[in-house]
Amino acid sequence: LLFLLAALTVEAEYMKYKDRKQPTNTRIKDLMSRMTLSEKIGQMVQLDRTVATAEIMRDYSIGSILSGGGSVPRPQATPVEWINMVNDFQKGSLSSRLGIPMIYGIDAVHGHNNVYKATVFPHNVGLGATRDPDLVKRIGAATALEVRATGIDYVFAPCIAVCRDPRWGRCFESYSEDPRVVIQMTEIIPGLQGDIPADSPKGVPYVGGRNKVAACAKHFVGDGGTTNGINENNTVIDRHGLLSIHMPGYYHSIIKGVSTIMVSYSSWNGLKMHANRDLVTSFLKDTLKFRGFVISDWQGIDRITSPPHANYSYSVLAGVNAGIDMFMLPFNHTDFIDILTGYVNNNIVPMSRIDDAVRRILRVKFTMGLFENPLADQNFVDQLGSQAHRDLAREAVRKSLVLLKNREDEQGAILPLSKNASRILVAGTHANNLGYQCGGWTITWQGLDGNNHSTGTTILSGITSAVDKNTQVLFSENPDSVFLESNKPFDYAIVVVGETPYAETFGDSMNLTLSEPGPNIIRKVCGAVKCVVVIVSGRPIVIEPYLDEIYGLVAAWLPGTEGQGVADVLFGDYGFNGTLPRTWFRNVDQLPMNFGDSNYDPLFSFGYGLTT
Ligand code: BGC
Repeated sequence: LLFLLAALTVEAEYMKYKDRKQPTNTRIKDLMSRMTLSEKIGQMVQLDRTVATAEIMRDYSIGSILSGGGSVPRPQATPVEWINMVNDFQKGSLSSRLGIPMIYGIDAVHGHNNVYKATVFPHNVGLGATRDPDLVKRIGAATALEVRATGIDYVFAPCIAVCRDPRWGRCFESYSEDPRVVIQMTEIIPGLQGDIPADSPKGVPYVGGRNKVAACAKHFVGDGGTTNGINENNTVIDRHGLLSIHMPGYYHSIIKGVSTIMVSYSSWNGLKMHANRDLVTSFLKDTLKFRGFVISDWQGIDRITSPPHANYSYSVLAGVNAGIDMFMLPFNHTDFIDILTGYVNNNIVPMSRIDDAVRRILRVKFTMGLFENPLADQNFVDQLGSQAHRDLAREAVRKSLVLLKNREDEQGAILPLSKNASRILVAGTHANNLGYQCGGWTITWQGLDGNNHSTGTTILSGITSAVDKNTQVLFSENPDSVFLESNKPFDYAIVVVGETPYAETFGDSMNLTLSEPGPNIIRKVCGAVKCVVVIVSGRPIVIEPYLDEIYGLVAAWLPGTEGQGVADVLFGDYGFNGTLPRTWFRNVDQLPMNFGDSNYDPLFSFGYGLTT
């Protein structure tokens, strides 16, 4: 009988942290008072989905799972299959002693780009060209819905890097070289997470409901300022420069309630950011009052290499002491857990540091309502690639285009192009290639090399549906002189060329030249026919050598799945309105060159853009 009574008492015990009527801080405090050290350290771990299991989630009280860019993609999975997978992990977490739900992160960096049928929006450089924060906010809201369609509640976006050198392979993930434009674009955060209530204390994370997701401003800090644009390298700049160029985006993200901030692989003046206690703890947490959680980058602590020969134990200590709260490990949790447990038991890492990390992680989870609604339902499955989102992406494409040249002759300016020409030529490697249009971080980490994306319109198909039904559209990727000669005359040609997809270090380029056959196609076609060249690229590239032969020049950036938006503007259904979010240099010897520099001599200046 005594046993039964005891069991009943346990059963009836009031768990304050489970009571939604309690204030968040009370719930956090109550839950933390019940947690063991290992349950706390487990919360600090983020595992890749390919190694996580429901049992691991339960037994280690793991805080989070991700689908990482560098992991195995699963683009073909349907929303329901995603939901079931996420829920299986979540059920593991819920069956742990205290039932703390996990949070699931993914790189939805231009729409829910890892999943077939999702709407793929222009990459950030193109959004920077729109200078339209309201548009970007709406894109954030649409992305949140598409991510929720697959049961996921956390995105590693926005990248608020201020790319100061286009040789950097991640420049397309940056809205602009100018911190003011980046600040404007942090408006994507209330789009993703919801509008922070007016009375919310500064720095407190906010996620406003099941149709919203937790966001992540990245990569803290100075990722876009590395020497020669070399990815993950060293950013050499004084404190004033760091605070005035690279930091303002974080300040504004925090004001808007960003839930998490990801640390950069790069160093600042020789010190790895993953080991930088001064910036992560003293500045970000203490001075800026950020109260969400700080997450490492993918194996970010493994790359702490100072002092030389630092081993993993050293890296764990440096990362935890720097102030990182959650660790994207992502394949091995036991080493991290063992090492950190040892540090705490030996008073090398104070318990207060662990508590700070866990408090922040739990704050985000409570704020999101994860304790009340841990399991995903199917309410949002229809949002994936919905017509409304595709229309929004098409609008974004239209607004992102920058008109750089529009030559006039006796017939007037070449743009907008006439819809009722008798015969036009469309040429170039990028005219009919959805993969190229989308760039890196699309379906796979490094992007796609062809049309094997499930939905969307290429620029060519956009052109074909925009012109008059009597206009003959001839397409040849790389037309030879026989083709050009035998099909004469053309009213005009549209040549679409540019960069092929890449991500991260694979995109670092020290020459930024247009690769063959691009130049060859431009020379042949534009030498024979009046032409408009559309550049599909993540950044400005060397274009001056071909400029004289070109009538019209358009920067289309990496527009995503809705190529129709390019045609909308080429044919004048909408005007050109975009302005350069970056300086268009003449040659790489000038780099880095940013607006305001004393030696500023660009081909097209930051902010340039003709209108039609
Ligand atoms: C990138 C991050 C990304 C993470 C997870 C890293 O390689 O630097 O931007 O969020 O992978 O995929």
